[in-house]
Amino acid sequence: MSTNKPFRVRFWGIRGSIPAPGPDTARYGGNTTSLEVQCGDRVFAIDGGTGVRLFGNELLKRLPVDVTFLMTHLHWDHVQGFPFFTPFLVPGNSFTIYSGHHNGGNILNVLKQLMAQPAFPISIDAFRSDVQFRFLDAGDTLDFGDVQVKTMPLNHPGGVVGYRFEYGGKSFVHASDWEHPDDGSMDEAFIEFIRGCDVLSVDATYTQDEYDGKRGPPRRGWGHASHEAALAHAGRAGVKKTVLVHHEQSRPDDELDALAAKLFVGRDACFGVEGAAIDLL
Ligand SMILES: [Zn+2]
Ligand SMILES: [Zn+2]
Repeated sequence: MSTNKPFRVRFWGIRGSIPAPGPDTARYGGNTTSLEVQCGDRVFAIDGGTGVRLFGNELLKRLPVDVTFLMTHLHWDHVQGFPFFTPFLVPGNSFTIYSGHHNGGNILNVLKQLMAQPAFPISIDAFRSDVQFRFLDAGDTLDFGDVQVKTMPLNHPGGVVGYRFEYGGKSFVHASDWEHPDDGSMDEAFIEFIRGCDVLSVDATYTQDEYDGKRGPPRRGWGHASHEAALAHAGRAGVKKTVLVHHEQSRPDDELDALAAKLFVGRDACFGVEGAAIDLL
């Protein structure tokens, strides 16, 4: 539906933990976490996984740009694309990057480490855009005028910030990386945070059998959710549409298709696809 007040989410990277390019992942995509969230004239982005390189290429067609990045956390697969995010190197653009205080680290120091000899040829001194860094405590609400962004600490080693965007009477939540309780009970605070949202993008890295160790090692405590638990939490919370993301790195497209046929019967749910967009308005 075309409208002059867009609320659009685009998935530039949906793979979990490490980039996984190749013929087996070409349809769902092999790039790690990067989302674009457009609310009216404002452009937000979540994380700087390798998908952010594709987002950057798109932004180069719209210069100058003003983008607010919201970091979930600073694990490799969520920051690794930033050195290849070309708009940082172009004058006239403005970026603000918000992050929590993750294990005492912060996004500025991680970027400096990513872009430094002997690991990388240029440093952040090569940035020609205005790049500002801001810090938040998970639980804060960020006020961007007609866009409100609520935050919540999620269960993940080192901590993660979940984001709930409210704009134009609609809501979008991104909650990854996240692990549910490992005893089959529900994360009640998480359910409250996602309650009634129109679209939820949620960690669903493993099958329940993988999580329980019936297929490979048990994945309890690794910081990620099973498909089944993610869908159960979304169901309890009355989420309207659920997008499962952070696909396990070895999971081929055909297996995702087979899982979709089993998991999504009678539900408005899907696996995230690199490049796909969802319009909330
Ligand atoms: Zn991750
Ligand atoms: Zn992580």
